[in-house]
Amino acid sequence: MSSFPNVGHPVPIENEPASSLDRSGIGGQPRGLTTLFFTEMWERFSYYGMRALLILYMTKAAADGGLGFETKRAALIYGTYTMSVYLLSILGGFIADNFIGARRAVLIGGIVIATGHFSMACTSHFTFFAGLVLITLGTGLLKPNISTMVGSLYSATDARRDAGFSIFYMGINIGALISPLVTGYLAQDDSWKAHLAAWGLDPRHSWHWGFAAAGVGMTLGLVMYLLQQDRLAAVGNAPAAHQPRPWAKLGVVGLASLILIAAMMLCDGGPWIWLGNFVREKLGINGLASFVSVHPHLGHYVVGLLFAIQIAAVIFFAFRPDEQSKRIAAILVFFFAAEIFWAIFEQAGSSMSLFADQLTDNRLLGWSFPSSWWQSVNSAWVIALAPVFAWLWIKLGARQPSSPVKFTLGLLFVALSFVWMIPAARLVGAGKVSPIWLLGLYFFQTVGEMCLSPVGLSTMAKLAPQRLLGLVMGIWFLADALGSKLAGVLASDFTSEDPGELVTFFSHQAIGVGVATLVLFALVPWTKKLMGGVK
Ligand code: GLN
Repeated sequence: MSSFPNVGHPVPIENEPASSLDRSGIGGQPRGLTTLFFTEMWERFSYYGMRALLILYMTKAAADGGLGFETKRAALIYGTYTMSVYLLSILGGFIADNFIGARRAVLIGGIVIATGHFSMACTSHFTFFAGLVLITLGTGLLKPNISTMVGSLYSATDARRDAGFSIFYMGINIGALISPLVTGYLAQDDSWKAHLAAWGLDPRHSWHWGFAAAGVGMTLGLVMYLLQQDRLAAVGNAPAAHQPRPWAKLGVVGLASLILIAAMMLCDGGPWIWLGNFVREKLGINGLASFVSVHPHLGHYVVGLLFAIQIAAVIFFAFRPDEQSKRIAAILVFFFAAEIFWAIFEQAGSSMSLFADQLTDNRLLGWSFPSSWWQSVNSAWVIALAPVFAWLWIKLGARQPSSPVKFTLGLLFVALSFVWMIPAARLVGAGKVSPIWLLGLYFFQTVGEMCLSPVGLSTMAKLAPQRLLGLVMGIWFLADALGSKLAGVLASDFTSEDPGELVTFFSHQAIGVGVATLVLFALVPWTKKLMGGVK
């Protein structure tokens, strides 16, 4: 199989693991893969199951059991949440590598995640936000390290590695496919709400049943993980006791993550809107609220600044004479492209979820389904398309596009996904639109994902100087993090009330990504040169 599946996952360790001789698991793979497959399947079940409800729960009125936040605030919180999940993966990887080992990090991470989901099953604001914080911390510990453990099952030359990652990636998408169906039913289905009422329970609390189901999923993953620990005995061990523990560096990584999250939150305008409203409501002073309304696009300036810094960094490294600096410049070009890609793609659970809920006719052969079920469609497309792509890359062999071209294709397809939505936005004036639009959107986005996401990590790993491998993996997660935050900022302009504005919403973003695609395409020969022979 191709190198497709290593999405966002750190690279394997070099020494020969005992499992490299074991062929008794799925498809002749090491048995440890089965453990990791099911643990990650359930973890993703919980992640995507909760994510499918998140923006809907935040934006629904209190009468419908929601928090009643405006779209803008909800999208910014959503963006901060998804950003933090990826950002804290850097910290989680660092903690595992230098302190507790991946095996224990996955266990602790899973417990923290389950606690977070159960916290959200309670009905207060405090438990909601505490749940989000716990899930980001837990996922930061679990997600990068479970992937490292998959890599660690194989020796450097084991031919089963790519197939192993493909199987693992299927586990991710099976979990992500099933969970919105379950949590969405519990949170949104009318017949379920009727059951709740019949049992004497408040049907408005249906959302919390969905969150609880996510917690149950993570708990099942933990049970599987604990029961099958022996299969992992050889991988994910803590570093030897005599190895120094870099506490100071831990402090720096932890603090830098917190500062970045806080800075992005302050700059996106979200807390200012909240503070402005608070000051107006509690103290009757209008000043701050009107300052924010005069500067509604605070977040956009920050994004502009971030981009400028990144472009400056590419230029700085590209024009240094040594080979290594040029490769770092290439890494930064890929970083930039990935960030823009995720900024569109990661709106799936925010603006696109609102489009599904408010503007799509969610009926299949006359039967209505919960809007959160749309969150399964990307995974369904991955499961359908991954074998096609694996076949395609094998068939093309040496003639397959280079990684800069694949990245360009990734951007092109996410741009097309929003171009595809422009006619849909025009049609919403006449009522809810056909499901065909969102099916098409997710088709284009998944094709883009297949082109960019798997190639990204392996290219990063190949370009990184050996001593900077960990850092470069962190950079790959950072692209996901910043892209997710940007997705929140962009989604905060979503509206379901004005078709004209909605057309602008899709077309401006499509144009932006279209321009980035053209620039990346024009830079292909230059990027290849910067890569210095790495394919
Ligand atoms: N769907 C993949 C996962 O959940 C990748 C998502 C991402 O990197 N943004 O692992």
